[in-house]
Amino acid sequence: MRTYFAVLVIGSLLVGVFAVQPEPGPMRASKQQPDPSKKTLLVIHGGAGVLTEQEMKAEGLVRSDFEQALARALAAGHEAVKDKGRTSVNAVEAAIRVMEDSGLFNAGRGAAFNSDGRVELDAAIMEGNMTGQGEGKRDPRKRAGAVTGVAHIKNPISAARAVMEMDGSRHVMLAGDGAETFALGEAVSRRYRIERVSNLYFWSDRRLRHIREEFKKEGAAGGKKSASAATPDHGGSAERRFGTVGAVAVDTDGHLAAGTSTGGLTNKLPGRIGDSPVIGAGTYADDRACGVSCTGTGEVFMRHAVAHDVVARMLYAKNSVADAARATIDALPDEEGGVGGLIALDREGRHTFALSKKSAGMYRGFVTADGQILVAIYAAERPRPINLAPKRQDAKSKGR
Ligand code: ASP
Repeated sequence: MRTYFAVLVIGSLLVGVFAVQPEPGPMRASKQQPDPSKKTLLVIHGGAGVLTEQEMKAEGLVRSDFEQALARALAAGHEAVKDKGRTSVNAVEAAIRVMEDSGLFNAGRGAAFNSDGRVELDAAIMEGNMTGQGEGKRDPRKRAGAVTGVAHIKNPISAARAVMEMDGSRHVMLAGDGAETFALGEAVSRRYRIERVSNLYFWSDRRLRHIREEFKKEGAAGGKKSASAATPDHGGSAERRFGTVGAVAVDTDGHLAAGTSTGGLTNKLPGRIGDSPVIGAGTYADDRACGVSCTGTGEVFMRHAVAHDVVARMLYAKNSVADAARATIDALPDEEGGVGGLIALDREGRHTFALSKKSAGMYRGFVTADGQILVAIYAAERPRPINLAPKRQDAKSKGR
């Protein structure tokens, strides 16, 4: 009998020590992934504003349109990083280009309108590399590039990369006409596959409907600005506000990269710049900690230097990536419909999604080293495995 009790007591102690802690919530963190084939190589988001399934229907879309777009982006990114010698920057750029071209997210082709009916896009990319030595701008550590307010560049993420890799790391951020002149120059555009498009390329029925609804709301409010950018608590669908895309990847050398691309907020004032292209606000990477890409009310993310805050919590407070992300988001002032969220990935291949309490979801997913793709949309969901369907009709004709 004594032995029986001893076994029982020791047994329960062991269970207490080794039991896998239940995940605190589906948006908190993935489990530790000791199996190298299960480590995350790439994590992405398509914005922290999601449509309900009814809203998708009203837009001529279904859930699997978003899931497949995410899966295609993850597959492209995985292909770009899975083998030795490939870089995390390639993966981030490849995944974001797919999302920019999909027309489903508020980035690239699906970008939201300004209050003047034009589209202006922002993007940034950053390397977490901390090795090497150089002087001043030529120091190879933590290179970054960004473009803001571009109106004729099909894939702003590639323009951001071109800025990052500019000879001698001359500049980090270029705006408007200057950014376009640089990115569309013959040598740069060829090397980075940057295409010039008319601003009409970004026009879609869907975004036109959104801006009209915003104008109607403004009219009903007696002409008072209800611009999403100006009054975050306007009560409109979060989807109309947040649809930015982002990606964070780690390569076989353990180098991280993060990138973000956006059309900004619907009905934003011409010239407004959000957090996405601002290094440390919407985008950041540091190999000693993690890479981060954010989505949400850019003004709040800038004021709280959100992407850098996650890295700082890991470096100085020794937080795990999941705890650092959660604490950073919890420290933000929330707003109706949610203030947004972020994705982060550390060099061990542990990723996390963190979303503000009032957010309904975030288009998101990740791919493991062995190529398994998992995606999720709504806040309470866990990412689930998904197979890539043969490409049917894309968003050019669907919901546009
Ligand atoms: N953060 C973006 C911005 O403020 C918007 C988004 O995430 O959709 O420009």
